Amino acid sequence: MAEQIFILDNLDCPHCASKIEQKINTLPEIESAVFTFATKKLSVKSEHSSDMLLSLLQQTCDSIEDGVTVRKEKHIHHHDHHHEKHDIQKESLFIATGMVIFGIAIALEHLFLPDNKIAYIITYIVAYLILGGEVLIHSVKNIAKGQFLDENFLMSIATLGAFAIQEFPEAVGVMLFFRIGELFQEIAVEKSRSQIMSAVDLRPENVNLVKGDTVTSVSAESIQVGDILLVRAGDRIPLDATVIEGTSQIDTSAVTGESMPVTVSEGKSVLSGCINQSAVIKIRVDKVLRESMVTKILHSVENAVASKPKIDNFITRFSRIYTPIVVGIALVTATVIPLLTDRNFSKWIYTALSFLVMSCPCALVLSVPLAFFCGIGASSHFGILFKGGIAMEVLSKIRCVVTDKTGTVTKGIFEVQKIIPDNTISQNQLLQLCASCEQYSTHPVAVSIVNYAKKNHLSLFETENVEEISGMGIKAVINHKAVICGNLKLMQKFQIDIPKQYTDTMGTKVLVVIGGNYSGYILLADTVKENAETTFTMLKKQNIFTALLTGDEEKNAEAVAKVIGADECYAKLLPQEKLEKLKAIRQQHGSVMFVGDGINDAPVLAGADVGGAMGSGSDSAIEVADVVFMNNDMLSIAKSIEISRKTNSIAVINVVFAIVIKVIVMILGVTGIYANMWLAVFADTGVAVLCILNSVRILWQYRKRN
Ligand code: ADP
Ligand code: MG
Repeated sequence: MAEQIFILDNLDCPHCASKIEQKINTLPEIESAVFTFATKKLSVKSEHSSDMLLSLLQQTCDSIEDGVTVRKEKHIHHHDHHHEKHDIQKESLFIATGMVIFGIAIALEHLFLPDNKIAYIITYIVAYLILGGEVLIHSVKNIAKGQFLDENFLMSIATLGAFAIQEFPEAVGVMLFFRIGELFQEIAVEKSRSQIMSAVDLRPENVNLVKGDTVTSVSAESIQVGDILLVRAGDRIPLDATVIEGTSQIDTSAVTGESMPVTVSEGKSVLSGCINQSAVIKIRVDKVLRESMVTKILHSVENAVASKPKIDNFITRFSRIYTPIVVGIALVTATVIPLLTDRNFSKWIYTALSFLVMSCPCALVLSVPLAFFCGIGASSHFGILFKGGIAMEVLSKIRCVVTDKTGTVTKGIFEVQKIIPDNTISQNQLLQLCASCEQYSTHPVAVSIVNYAKKNHLSLFETENVEEISGMGIKAVINHKAVICGNLKLMQKFQIDIPKQYTDTMGTKVLVVIGGNYSGYILLADTVKENAETTFTMLKKQNIFTALLTGDEEKNAEAVAKVIGADECYAKLLPQEKLEKLKAIRQQHGSVMFVGDGINDAPVLAGADVGGAMGSGSDSAIEVADVVFMNNDMLSIAKSIEISRKTNSIAVINVVFAIVIKVIVMILGVTGIYANMWLAVFADTGVAVLCILNSVRILWQYRKRN
């Protein structure tokens, strides 16, 4: 079913947002809908046309919250924050005016005209209307729609109540506080939203299309695979492509977080989003806009918020019971308690009103998703792409990291060390046959052998019936003869006898069998990645159990495990055995993250609590992974865990802090120790602002290094 994206503008109250989301989900025309407050995006699954949905959604929003406008997402939208800026300016002006008049009213009451009650009361009322007029209108409209218990309504009741019991400064001051808090929230959310989105949306609008001798500027969406584009120095690479002319330095930091520029020349592939620094290059497009890296990065961050972490669902459920309970307590406090005790109604009504003020769970509804949004945005600065808020939440609780060896811990670039044929064949012949079998495989071993053969100017034979046996090797037919290339397991599978002395050598071996007879082997060596050891040391510091799983032989596995300092290592595993081992480790040590390059280990990736894939890995791995490490750097593993933990703890702190403060203020009020509406506003708006600032902190801490 088609997924369509809409933008909801002017939806400032998270509580209403969740109501709107719920209501939309009940509509028969809509299969499912997810609204993301942080990006304002509503993603809808439906079979209906977007025009039909647009009016339907607009109606639904109108029935809940006034002033919300629904629009379709344009494919390319360069974030236009003009609109929000304008709103914020207007709001600040109202607040400033209200504040001045409020000051005048206080001065009148206490200094100039303390006896002229009418004068200062009127001034208070004017200040109140300026500050709270909009809130009042809003709540009246919402009552007409049968929407009680939203923030506006609660604030209106509380402040009007304060007027009724002649607490004028309280009424105006509380409204002022509320508005300032709202403004702060808006600014903080808007700032982080635009900061993240502009860092993450690197999609080009126009590109320079080369046709013969002419270069024309056309829209990026119209470009097809195979088109030739011109990229000037200083421009961003618009689409994933291969360089066909020119040599230049590329700054990849926007995509990989790596600050060292790399040199590219003819034949090298380049990722969209990187900046071409030094010279003009021509590139041939490999992927259309929708599939290019720039779109993947953007979707990563957007989806991040669409798949909501568990803690978020907890809050939704919590607020559904919490708000009515607080309102109930307020009613009891205003009526039953004074009847039973001192009959001092105005005191207890005042207490009840302060309960109402703080009954909105805004601090949580807004700050928790924002924390994950910021966490994911911060990760993207390091080339770490999370596919969802859930992934980040689960990663923060991970107990062990299990990795694949080849291509993940090692570079996956094998060097042919030795070619050892038996006496029936020459070195070159052995290499030539083996490379011919391997030419269609994407396994790092295969790629290295093929490259080595090409370097030695050997031509490859035509092959028939090529079959890759995952985790073992290749079987093919060349010149009517069956050729098998692979490891010892493969030899066992086909019951081939091999000489004993062979097993003693270290390194990855590809044994070659021609027509059923062992004919020699090729010895290859891979090197451990630079940061592998540091990464495993960091993981240990993070209290994480580490293990290495590989299809290679014990000797090689143990050697690598020793160098990097992995706690355990398991060798000679087939892809499905890797999954079993992973499950065993999980039972013993707790939830696991598996990191692989994904050549033949997509099942393990999908089977782990969190699957991490290296950006250099296969497309299928990147597809099933929950986190992608664009820079192929091992250190990103430790970094992603660190950021996840921090983000999750921020979310938890926000939840605990907000609930504790509200409960304390409520207890103070209901026990008669201290009932104060200012304190109540702080417990609501003040806490919300603090929680939001706390959430945004992660962006600051992990800001882009430049
Ligand atoms: P790893 O955990 O090292 O990534 P794999 O499951 O990818 O393990 O591969 C396991 C072993 O199988 C490799 O070390 C290699 O010996 C052998 N192998 C896999 N694919 C091939 C191939 N195409 N050609 C030769 N050998 C292969
Ligand atoms: Mg592998």
